[in-house]
Amino acid sequence: MSDKAKKIVIVGGGIAGLSAGIYGQRAGFNTVIYEKNTVAGGSCSGWYRQGYAIDNCLHWLTGTREGTAAYQMWNELGLWDKNPEIFKRACFWSSEYEGETVTLWPDAEKTREEMLKISPEDHDEINAFIDLVKLGAEVIENGIKPKELAHTISTHESVMSDRKMFRYSMRYFGMNNETWAAKFKSPVIRSLILDFCPKEYESYWLVIAYSAYVAGNADIIKGGSIKMAQILTDNYLALGGKLELGKGVKKVKTTGILLDNGEKVDADYIICACDVNYTFKNLLSRKYVPITLKRIYDERKKYPLYSACQIAFAVDGLFEEIPDTLSFACEPVEAAHEAYDRIGVKNYRAYGEYIAPEGKTVIQVSLNQYKKDYIYWKKLYTNNHDDYVREKNNVAAAVENAICAKFPQYEGKLTLLDVWTPYSYARRNNDTQGAFMRYITTATSMNAIIPSEIVGLDNVFLAGHWLLYPGGVPSAALTGKNAIGHIVARENKR
Ligand SMILES: Cc1cc2nc3c(=O)[nH]c(=O)nc-3n(C[C@H](O)[C@H](O)[C@H](O)COP(=O)(O)OP(=O)(O)OC[C@H]3O[C@@H](n4cnc5c(N)ncnc54)[C@H](O)[C@@H]3O)c2cc1C
Repeated sequence: MSDKAKKIVIVGGGIAGLSAGIYGQRAGFNTVIYEKNTVAGGSCSGWYRQGYAIDNCLHWLTGTREGTAAYQMWNELGLWDKNPEIFKRACFWSSEYEGETVTLWPDAEKTREEMLKISPEDHDEINAFIDLVKLGAEVIENGIKPKELAHTISTHESVMSDRKMFRYSMRYFGMNNETWAAKFKSPVIRSLILDFCPKEYESYWLVIAYSAYVAGNADIIKGGSIKMAQILTDNYLALGGKLELGKGVKKVKTTGILLDNGEKVDADYIICACDVNYTFKNLLSRKYVPITLKRIYDERKKYPLYSACQIAFAVDGLFEEIPDTLSFACEPVEAAHEAYDRIGVKNYRAYGEYIAPEGKTVIQVSLNQYKKDYIYWKKLYTNNHDDYVREKNNVAAAVENAICAKFPQYEGKLTLLDVWTPYSYARRNNDTQGAFMRYITTATSMNAIIPSEIVGLDNVFLAGHWLLYPGGVPSAALTGKNAIGHIVARENKR
């Protein structure tokens, strides 16, 4: 790296920031990432409690199938350099209702058979769903054309670029999960749809996500989120990038940044790779808010955000009764303003040996939370920390009771590892309302794309999962790449 190389300062060491750093180093820039936490990875992270690992992100990693755009991008980022083992989860999701269970199996035909056996009267809806899943998987398996690579990183977009797929998907457009679920007579299939993701989600989200899983493009790397963040961090450092951990950024100016500790850092370019709302509110100025975001602010109801209250337990045993994720009915569990009469339990044993000592595992339950819940947790935390802790423990106790009522053989075998709330995400990552995914695409919202370039600021760019539908780690990484692309274009012009 020449001393004369232009300097890019990147705010945030999540997947978007690390991606910008890697592409920036490769393009010959001098990059420095400033990350407020003491570890990089952002939302794609995990932590250890009592010798057990809590994986806090990857349920699926889009881009595990060779030949797809996302696989290629991960390749450029060096994710495959050390051949991390890729594994397919035992199933995508299972739901149980009054003794009946349906599962989204790796083989979509098996899912079709199981659903038809349970509910022959839902024959039309089941066949439409599975036919479309198989068509989507076929499109992914055939790979996508190189010219599409630049802008179709998500499974959703690459699948939708196929005309037949688009035509067949029309029945799901403009319909949310709640409406779709109501089309099924079978209560267990209805439950599956609503257990998988929030009811506001546009319904083809499940179709597309399941297609990706069936095609082997939504698997997991052994080691999960911790491993992924570590590989990208190592690659960035190996390319000569500088990572300043535990250094929060207070303000961004065109000349550089001001750190929380008062230090000023000069830069030729700045990439804000953290929460986009936080960026305009705290780091820059609201006067630079792009039109797409303004529209979202004006039509807030169309663009909901969600977060979660999550609970992790160590299990003395492997919990083989749940090979991956199972949702089931329970006595109501209350968390903030919500009451849940179903919970989903995910078993992390398959993620790798690091998860738990031999013969043991970690399970997690994630309860969807919304704005009013975020406010509840925030107030509790701010007003009386003891109450906050007590309330978290109450939620954990209710969840433990629900699990043990269903699986009495685990009575006395669960140890609480951690409970974290929407406010934990806000404190840790500066996530708006604790939202760790971008705005939900509902039946009435557009797939709002937020540009990386900021009108009025020549050398400041945005990156991060907020910018690109559907969010998640591939979108985050692509926006990091795109931000560097803009800087390269600017330098070439000069
Ligand atoms: C429970 C959960 C499950 C998920 N499941 C999946 C999944 O299965 N598949 C998938 O693809 N995605 C999943 N995601 C989403 C995925 O983790 C995110 O979309 C992605 O990691 C976002 O990356 P990012 O770099 O855009 O943002 P972030 O990860 O939020 O990174 C932003 C970084 O900026 C730092 N920062 C913020 N403010 C400052 C400041 N002032 N100064 C310095 N640093 C700052 C933060 O600390 C953070 O490290 C999940 C997330 C969660 C939490």
